[in-house]
Parts: sequence; structure tokens; C-alpha cells
Amino acid sequence: MALRNCASCGKLFDAPSSSIRLCLQCEMDDQKQFDKVKEYLKEHATATVIEITKDTGVGRKQIYEWVRTGRLDVAGIHDLGLVCEGCGESINTGRFCVQCAARMQQDAKRLLAGQKPQSGARREKKTGFHVADSIVRRRRDD
Ligand SMILES: [Zn+2]
Ligand SMILES: [Zn+2]
Repeated sequence: MALRNCASCGKLFDAPSSSIRLCLQCEMDDQKQFDKVKEYLKEHATATVIEITKDTGVGRKQIYEWVRTGRLDVAGIHDLGLVCEGCGESINTGRFCVQCAARMQQDAKRLLAGQKPQSGARREKKTGFHVADSIVRRRRDD
């Protein structure tokens, strides 16, 4: 038994073991919240974190904390609240949504294709004749 501050409310309490970080009151609240989320996930298998927080009142940070500590199974959550870095659309995995990933692939391809001409090509573009000339030359080279 040792006196320590509750990790949640900061109140000094008598901890029966060093692994206990919450006072009895907060521990009970925590368990209640956890059960609520667990129950909610049972009924809403495809719930997103946003939906969970909205419907159970449990904070997003708390849910991430449970996932991080392995208390909550990440596979049970349809959407962890990840958003596409390209358009902000919510996604399940990775950094980009399908559309943005496809678009970026296209862009990359186009970029790659655009880099093919020799370094002098950009300068030659200023006059139509030289562009046509360079295209013909490139075609012949191929
Ligand atoms: Zn407490
Ligand atoms: Zn996107």
C-alpha cells in the first residue's frame, strides 16, 4: 500500500499495488466507460471512433489510450479516426484515401513521363519548330 496521486483526477489515494494508477472512484468510472464502449462495439460492429465518442460520450483520447495499451481490440473498431492527408476524407488505414492514392499514382506516372525528354527539351519548347523537331528526333531515337 502506498499513497499516490490518481492519474485521472489527481486525488491522493491509497494504491494497493504499483500498477494501480487510478483512485477507486476513477477506476470505477474508467471501467464503466470501457464497458460502455465494449457494449457499443458489440452492437455497432462498423462504428467509427467519431461515432463511438459521440454515442458513448467517451473521449477519443481515452479510446486511443485503450487501443494503445491493448485493452481495446483495434480490430473491433471500423475506423480509428484516420483522415486522408490529401483531402481530409476519413480512411481506415494508411495515409491517403483510395481516390487520392490513385490520383497520386497518376501524377507520379505523368511526372515520370514528363521527365523523360532530355534536359534541352524545355528550352526548345519556346519555338514550335524546335518542339516538332525534337519530337521527331525523339521518336526516331526510340
Ligand atoms: Zn481519481
Ligand atoms: Zn483523399
